[in-house]
Amino acid sequence: MQEEKKGHFIETIITEDVENNKNDGQVCTRFPPEPNGFLHIGHAKSICLNYNMAEKFNGKCNLRFDDSNPAKEKQIYIDSIMANVKWLGFDVNTPLFASDYFQRLYEFAIELIKKGKAYVCSLPPDQIREYRGTLTEPGKNSPFRDRPVEENLELFDQMKQGVFDEGQHTLRAKIDMSSPNINLRDPIIYRVKKAAHPRTGTTWDIYPMYDFTHCLSDALEGITHSLCSLEFEDHRPLYDWIIEQLDTPCHPQQIEFARMNINYTVLSKRKLQRLVEEGHVDGWDDPRLHTLEGMKRRGYTPASIRNFCDVIGVSKKESRIDMGLLESCLRDDLNEQAPRVMGILNPLKVTIENYPDDQTETLDAVNHPKKEEMGKRQITFSKELYIEQTDFMEDPPKKFFRLGPGREVRLRYAYFITCKDVVKDENGKVIELICTYDPETRGGNAPDGRKVKGTIHWVNARDCVDATVNLYDRLFLDEDPEKDQDFVDNLNPDSLVTLDHCKLETSLGQAEPEKVYQFERMGYFCRDTKSLDNLVFNRTVTLRDTWAKVGGKK
Ligand code: ATP
Ligand code: MG
Repeated sequence: MQEEKKGHFIETIITEDVENNKNDGQVCTRFPPEPNGFLHIGHAKSICLNYNMAEKFNGKCNLRFDDSNPAKEKQIYIDSIMANVKWLGFDVNTPLFASDYFQRLYEFAIELIKKGKAYVCSLPPDQIREYRGTLTEPGKNSPFRDRPVEENLELFDQMKQGVFDEGQHTLRAKIDMSSPNINLRDPIIYRVKKAAHPRTGTTWDIYPMYDFTHCLSDALEGITHSLCSLEFEDHRPLYDWIIEQLDTPCHPQQIEFARMNINYTVLSKRKLQRLVEEGHVDGWDDPRLHTLEGMKRRGYTPASIRNFCDVIGVSKKESRIDMGLLESCLRDDLNEQAPRVMGILNPLKVTIENYPDDQTETLDAVNHPKKEEMGKRQITFSKELYIEQTDFMEDPPKKFFRLGPGREVRLRYAYFITCKDVVKDENGKVIELICTYDPETRGGNAPDGRKVKGTIHWVNARDCVDATVNLYDRLFLDEDPEKDQDFVDNLNPDSLVTLDHCKLETSLGQAEPEKVYQFERMGYFCRDTKSLDNLVFNRTVTLRDTWAKVGGKK
């Protein structure tokens, strides 16, 4: 299937470049995160794109941290990003860091100064802004623009020595203050910053700006195709300008593509941060967030995320992808992989009155209906069971094929039972069913050929395990949480419903973290990795798309 699919526009460009022997036919890409936050599913798109293009053309993809802003960067982000990329299934054995190039970048800056293409500007930040002009008005030259090279070199050296305070002087590229592209109006390329860097410590008092760092790091690494999201389109002339002024090993080609957006969620780090800081969610790895940490905790599999990124493709057009598509990629994978088990979310006690009180028997249950190789497990049956409250109705309509007074159903892998009596509490709520079983129907079939219309799941009340289950739902109510409102006003108040005292089959007492199980008829669930002392499960996804609109796509 993959082979038949026509490649996206970036693949077409690279194919042509390789055919024309551009860059000697080599392909080298990179994924360049800034370690200033945790990755989200949008980053996964970029990761898959870069690694897949490298793989497809027998090239290489570098994981490079663009770590040139120490004020916002932290080691925990570096660690988490590495773990996420690895988890997604890509190589992280030799991570690279822009900070490893600080000395070379510094030398490039000196080269620019010497060529008369950069100057030290002593305007304070607010005046730099004022001189920059606007979208409709050109900027004005800084009075320091024509500083002699020697003076620039001396001041830049003093900036490096830590002589000046932050904001006192900056190093700016000398391009064009009247350019229609604001990025070319003498952009700052170095600033004084008295902050310790997670990797270089206090070695540096000046740090290169992103636009200067990024293109030169690409060039130093021999990147052939520098793939980035559309917001960098207006930065491309600056990217090219810097490379053209300097003696670099190569000139990488920047190609922009549209960012991934998904409905019913937000992705940008800034917005995610707000949700975390204002306590709307329980940390960066809250299973309702589409951070990779959150998705992992929710039970998303790397294969389902890779497949999703493949299915949505790569284009230049901004769009919002349906969350249903992401979830259907997840279901497709889990349907194949997840072992089946039985668990009761809202228990209703069942007593089998004709079953011997002191007896327990074992029954075979298959772990996957279509995969014999996944084997069987043994489950126990006794006089006391639990079923799902929703599988019983006291006054059932015709189409309800589950349990009701006098009705017979099949208990999955076990027997036919018939409801004989109903026990209620003082408020009239049904709290227990008294049933009989037919010993002849062991395994689920009646020798007399009589049929039942419903099969329901159950657990043995005498050895089941008690668990807490988190039912997660969409974090926002509207498809576009930001339309005409602040997105925090659109939070779904029911995005988390916690159920205590759910009853699960015994084997789940030993459930492995990160492994997703299908609770038959109820959805996919995985053990919460943050609460391993207790038995807590997170609902990964429902069995069907309950959000699909009537007449909408399935
Ligand atoms: P955000 O804006 O969401 O906070 P970012 O762009 O600041 O993210 P970076 O660490 O700079 O995050 O991103 C690393 C790479 O991932 C960049 O090449 C960027 O273009 C890409 N990227 C980030 N968000 C998306 C997205 N939603 N879809 C596709 N690529 C993305
Ligand atoms: Mg960014």
